[in-house]
Amino acid sequence: MPASAAVAPALVGLDLIRTLVAFDTTSRESNLALIDWVRDYLAGHGIDSQLTFDDAQRKANLFATLPARDGNATAGGIVLSGHTDVVPVDGQPWETPPFTATLVEDKLYGRGVADMKSFSAIGLAFVPEFLRRGLKRPLHFSLSYDEEVGCIGVRRLIADIVKRKVRPSGCIVGEPTEMRLVVAHKGKKSYRCRVRGHEAHSSLTPRGVNAVQIACEIVSFLTRMARRFRDRGGFDAAFDVPYTTVHTGVIRGGTALNIVPRDCVFDFEFRHLPFDDPDALLAEVRRFAATLTPEMHAVDPSTHIEFEQLSAMPGLDTHGGNEIAELGMACAGTRDFGKVSFGTEASLFHNADISTIVCGPGHIDQAHQPNEWIAIEQLARCEDFMRRLADRVCVA
Ligand SMILES: [Zn+2]
Repeated sequence: MPASAAVAPALVGLDLIRTLVAFDTTSRESNLALIDWVRDYLAGHGIDSQLTFDDAQRKANLFATLPARDGNATAGGIVLSGHTDVVPVDGQPWETPPFTATLVEDKLYGRGVADMKSFSAIGLAFVPEFLRRGLKRPLHFSLSYDEEVGCIGVRRLIADIVKRKVRPSGCIVGEPTEMRLVVAHKGKKSYRCRVRGHEAHSSLTPRGVNAVQIACEIVSFLTRMARRFRDRGGFDAAFDVPYTTVHTGVIRGGTALNIVPRDCVFDFEFRHLPFDDPDALLAEVRRFAATLTPEMHAVDPSTHIEFEQLSAMPGLDTHGGNEIAELGMACAGTRDFGKVSFGTEASLFHNADISTIVCGPGHIDQAHQPNEWIAIEQLARCEDFMRRLADRVCVA
């Protein structure tokens, strides 16, 4: 008998995972159908939800509180946090329907099974148990929109709970860590650089300003920065990539080989260790760019190099020594903890004075891939985590 036949039916959360995966919540789509479903599910257990919307009212965050047995719904307790959106499946070779969670032997396939609907679904599946056993402190659920496009939605949710004076003492973000405790992650800042040169016939290059070549000089500077971090640090060996990385991902410029190009645009990012300052890194790039402009201005004073920030996600490092880390270690059944290179919503909760760790089922390598999958064993471990959590946060 395959493992799944024995194990999968014992999973409390499997039906809920199937339900959440069935909603196409690709970031560009509305997530309201999923949010409405969860709101109705919680209402069925007597729990109200607070929604915060995006400007177009097409997407919402959901925040819901299971009050403590004494009625306390605001002071202390923890948040179980997940994002509802998933990355696109366009152009990916899927062998199963991506929005149907499909069990094949010991793996469950579907968009979002690892990143990160399973964690949210399993948490929600334990609502009846949390309520039946009664809570010592409130337990909150946070479901956000637009995480995959820069952790946009959760900022409104956090602002709303701060305004309503809901004061959780800790938060667990269930991004895929293979149920290992993550107490730190890198920060990220991304930028667009626009180089405006001066067009000329390519037989007359000295009369033009070649925007592509200027851009490439800056890209090369970024490459040298990346090598410097790789070779000289600073380092934190607890990270899978133990130094700050610098990367240029997109470049566009020029129109034809016989024209000195007027425009070139490229996007780059710093994924920095929590102790490195991305603003100082950008200042370094700006100083280099400034050394290129006198030669440009000598040909045409209207030429220029501009930088625009595209996104910002702070780093997180709790060093593993606080109350939520202790709770996480107890529930995960191990005192090991690690640090990861991908950013999460954890740093935004942390910056709102809510101590936060990351711990969820599945492996980040499966996230964003065609045929995204999660091992049934990971789902079982997540359910064990929730049971141990219930043992600690419940009265009975
Ligand atoms: Zn995620």
